[in-house]
Amino acid sequence: MKTIGHFVDSKPAAGTSGRHGTVYDPATGAEAARVAFAGPAEVDRAVAAAAEAFREWRTTSLARRTALLFRYRELLHAEREELAALITAEHGKVRADALGEIARGLEVVELACAVPEKLKGALSTQVSTGVDVASVRQPLGVVACVTPFNFPAMVPLWMFPLALACGNTVVLKPSEKVPSAALRLAELAARAGFPAGALNVVNGDRETVERLTAHRDVAAVSFVGSTPVARALHRAATSHGKRVQALGGAKNHMLVLPDADLDVAADSAVSAAYGSAGERCMAVSVVVAVGEDTADALVAAIAERARALRIGPGDDPASEMGPLITAEHRDRVASYVGGARAQGAEVVVDGTGLVVEGHEKGFFLGVSLLDRVTPAMDAYRDEIFGPVLCVVRAADYEEALALINASPWGNGAAIFTRDGGTARRFQLEVAAGMVGVNVPIPVPVASHSFGGWKDSLFGDLHVYGEDGIRFYTRGKVVTTRWPRPAESAVNLGFPSGA
Ligand code: NAD
Repeated sequence: MKTIGHFVDSKPAAGTSGRHGTVYDPATGAEAARVAFAGPAEVDRAVAAAAEAFREWRTTSLARRTALLFRYRELLHAEREELAALITAEHGKVRADALGEIARGLEVVELACAVPEKLKGALSTQVSTGVDVASVRQPLGVVACVTPFNFPAMVPLWMFPLALACGNTVVLKPSEKVPSAALRLAELAARAGFPAGALNVVNGDRETVERLTAHRDVAAVSFVGSTPVARALHRAATSHGKRVQALGGAKNHMLVLPDADLDVAADSAVSAAYGSAGERCMAVSVVVAVGEDTADALVAAIAERARALRIGPGDDPASEMGPLITAEHRDRVASYVGGARAQGAEVVVDGTGLVVEGHEKGFFLGVSLLDRVTPAMDAYRDEIFGPVLCVVRAADYEEALALINASPWGNGAAIFTRDGGTARRFQLEVAAGMVGVNVPIPVPVASHSFGGWKDSLFGDLHVYGEDGIRFYTRGKVVTTRWPRPAESAVNLGFPSGA
């Protein structure tokens, strides 16, 4: 069986720790490869390579950095089909979706190409007589990036292009379930001409992450994953003095008012709930329907669309939804459907028990729609992270908003309505970091930052956009005076204006 190693100092590196995990083909259930788990010595080697590369990279001209980023953008664009195939093979998502995540990742590379504009800083002349003040931003050093399984290319691309553009070097630890896309991204960076050690990849698990994020020579950690891990990692890494942004899980609500176009709302709910098998941190997992009539009509419209979805292997162009990431995860997601029924929900569409012909051992699960869900049910309280959509019925806008704002998560939230005034109220009142108005998955474009509130993000700064630039740099203020020696004198007073 194929063994997947690491990528350090711009070279593939075989694993030496003796520990490894299994990478599956979720469409067939077959073991596709073994992935090496980096031990302490391997993590240290990758950090040392990044620290060595930082010595020159931090002062490499913006012109040179930009030229490499433009070249990287072209290579990534040219190789996107092959990269998408790698994503589908290990993650299972359909090809169009894999290409979509690469396109969203490319956006961040394009933003990184504009880094000279972003790092211009600020200058005030003559703040006091003969005194100028400049604010500049400088790189941090070695940045560790730890990423989840559900976007094997996009989430790494949220991080390392901007980190590199700002003059840092990177050690990336992708999800052990989907290691190949990250390795390919790093190989492409080496091909584009980034210096050896600028972007390293170590594969591994919790042990690898703990070594990396506590390492003396790591200055900052960008993490995306589940809430319990994000919370623990934020606590541990900040206690080691690191700058940390840790994005966690989500339970995203879509509020549908009685005046909404229900066909548009149903199309949007189905796309956002079941796309990528619901394994998206911005997936809609709860529809909050205002009024019984709205709920009845919407549930019928969603059910009709849900039953028509074509589920199959991601490399079949006819498939609209692929398998889940592992058999254990598929079984856990399925258990919420039976659990919700037992707790009093109405299972309108039951996707458990689906078998895809010719792929009987694949990790497939049909889509499920649960109506009359209440906040007390496990299906409402937990992040299911699969193709299960809950419908909660609310009497009015206020009740719906209170429900959404009581959620421990605050990643995305959407409202569907034709009433501009209520949509505006929602924007102001909802406790979520990313809000959609008639947009079910409001993932910001690269020039705006991505991040949630509450248990969806630990740390202050969101990823990419302006926040990304701030996260990967630290400010320095330089005050300058060129006095004439003849005018110099001792003055023990605290410097003030004039
Ligand atoms: P995960 O938390 O299990 O793993 C994420 C990363 O952390 C992986 O690289 C993994 O190897 C590592 N890891 C796992 N356990 C660890 C531990 N105990 N200590 C240190 N590192 C550990 O998440 P996942 O299952 O890969 O991804 C799905 C989760 O990610 C969902 O909760 C989803 O909502 C979330 N997610 C959030 C966003 C966002 O932007 N907020 C985006 C994508 C995914």
